[in-house]
Amino acid sequence: NPADQSLFEDLTGKPSPAQRRALAKIITLLESTRSDHRTRADELLNALLPKTGKSFRLGISGVPGVGKSTLIETLGLYLINKGHRVAVLAIDPSSSISGGSILGDKTRMERLSVHEHAFIRPSPSSGTLGGVAEKTREALLVAEAAGHDIVIVETVGVGQSEIAVAGMTDLFLLLQLPNAGDDLQAIKKGVMELADLIVINKADIDPNAAMRAQAFITSSLRLLGFQGNPDHATHQQDYWHPIVMSLSALNGQGIPELWESILHFQKLQIANGRLQERRKQQAGSWMWERIDAGLKHAFRNHPEVQALLPRFSAEVNAGTMAASVAARRLLEAMGHEFF
Ligand code: GDP
Repeated sequence: NPADQSLFEDLTGKPSPAQRRALAKIITLLESTRSDHRTRADELLNALLPKTGKSFRLGISGVPGVGKSTLIETLGLYLINKGHRVAVLAIDPSSSISGGSILGDKTRMERLSVHEHAFIRPSPSSGTLGGVAEKTREALLVAEAAGHDIVIVETVGVGQSEIAVAGMTDLFLLLQLPNAGDDLQAIKKGVMELADLIVINKADIDPNAAMRAQAFITSSLRLLGFQGNPDHATHQQDYWHPIVMSLSALNGQGIPELWESILHFQKLQIANGRLQERRKQQAGSWMWERIDAGLKHAFRNHPEVQALLPRFSAEVNAGTMAASVAARRLLEAMGHEFF
């Protein structure tokens, strides 16, 4: 397809307005629900693959109001000043639930968004969380192929979307408020275990509170029996413990230190081979996650299954058929091609 050929060339060429347009266009293609668009997007993705993988992928999460967009703007501009090209993507879990938006439609990151070395793309606005995550993951690859050497993927603090973001990034940063230290709820073990870095924001408001929160979270991690994640091992017996630090996204205090910590982590990950290992695992689980989703979709849309499902569900509900028997018969109804 000659149109796609020129999209490819614009995207992988020099930084330019044409490149930006190509990047936006290709992401639109892969977000489309039309099957001809999907086919073109798939071909483009495969062609672009050799040009991907060279960025640093940074995941950021935290509750609404914690300062995610402020941090991304401050850090993004800091990095652009150092000569980097930054892409910002988002996974908004509310879009898959309500069609609404927790990340907000307000103009975010005003200074970063107009910068020629930045590319900001909001969350895909519909689909299951898995579907939204898939599009974002693909957009990440396209942004890399366009030469963005830092890709930030943002989400809000609700479990599943955080797992999705941690599953597509090299470092997962959890942003916290100073007062979160008083609240054990905030120290959800599952999320803490995802975090490679825990950053307490708004330290400018009350530096003492920020220090207390830092101490509290550090000791809570120990209390929770946090052993360190093998994903972060510097070598086999030596685990990376999430670093807890505080800063002000608003006035920029602590941003250079944050970037140093990130670089330090990245260096360790490269030296001990974990970066490659992590990305390999991520690609593998991505494939299986999509296979599972595809099978489920095929199952639910299979005419035989649709014909039998209401009766079988009713029987399972009424207690006249064992759930396992119903499941087996419904799976068999898909036909032998699946067995
Ligand atoms: P998000 O919902 O996580 O993206 O949070 P925002 O970045 O929109 O920030 C929410 C509010 O907190 C805004 O009014 C910001 O100006 C403010 N804010 C963000 N970071 C800081 C900070 O470091 N210090 C102070 N004092 N305010 C901040």
